[in-house]
Amino acid sequence: MNLQSKVALNNGVEIPWVGLGVFQSEPGPETQQAVEWALELGYRHIDTAAFYQNEESVGRALKASGVRRDEVFVTTKVWNNNQGYDEALAAFDRSLKNLGMDTVDLYLVHWPIEKKRLQTWKALEKIYEEGRARAIGVSNFLVHHLEELAEHSGIVPAVNQVEFHPFLLQKELLDYDHEHGIRHEAWSPLTRARLWDDPVIDRIAAAHEKSRAQVLLRWDLQHGVVTIPKSVHRDRIEENSKLFDFELTDGEMAQLDALDRSERIGPDPDQMARQSG
Ligand code: NDP
Repeated sequence: MNLQSKVALNNGVEIPWVGLGVFQSEPGPETQQAVEWALELGYRHIDTAAFYQNEESVGRALKASGVRRDEVFVTTKVWNNNQGYDEALAAFDRSLKNLGMDTVDLYLVHWPIEKKRLQTWKALEKIYEEGRARAIGVSNFLVHHLEELAEHSGIVPAVNQVEFHPFLLQKELLDYDHEHGIRHEAWSPLTRARLWDDPVIDRIAAAHEKSRAQVLLRWDLQHGVVTIPKSVHRDRIEENSKLFDFELTDGEMAQLDALDRSERIGPDPDQMARQSG
């Protein structure tokens, strides 16, 4: 396995296990530079969103890199205030225009907004059927949201992108996704460097002569979870890609799992669904 290794989604489209996240990367030179470094270092997967306002910089970086469009997996997402059928279709057109692309590899419903999410999903189904997104999926969906979707749609989301790190395991959700062919994808896999000051993580990192970041990202991969760490620093982007020359033992995986305390960095999906609904 290496940085360009991929896993097949439920429709056969392949996604690289590791991507670069660009949430809170400044639109303009900061994002463009980060994406160019990532591509130069061998990343082939970029995770953006309309909400991040840096789709244009991602598109520019890809063009400037000289890497072929079909070699890079690009994800973007429909933001909460653009949910609903017509609104989501229009938002998708804007995202394509900003990215300067004809298709995206993965289009996600960013949050499960109440009263809107099913109509939004219908728009994504249309986009998928038209071949303008190679795969469609959801983000921040809990089990009850996924069950509701299954009742109303024949297309199973290819991905569920959720907050995921040892302090927020959400085992039931992880198992649901695995059992239903929905690829679990980790956002804030590094806890935004906020929660990882922990003796268990440090002991495991020391044992492998690896960093905290590398331990947490390796934990994702060994759980079968696609991961998208964000950094705008070249050395960190590189560090976050060096995950393929060590392996956590079953015991270490269990010790990391045991750090779970249901602690979120980001919003609770049910609250977000209501606030923005
Ligand atoms: P991460 O857990 O990836 O952490 C990013 C933070 O950690 C940044 O402050 C970065 O700083 C720092 N960092 C990165 N690498 C290292 C390192 N090796 N050592 C020390 N510090 C490091 O958080 P994100 O919330 O950004 O999540 C990753 C991606 O997931 C996002 O960028 C976005 O694409 C996606 N996401 C999706 C959400 C959703 O609702 N679907 C919500 C949130 C994120 P610096 O940049 O200064 O190096």
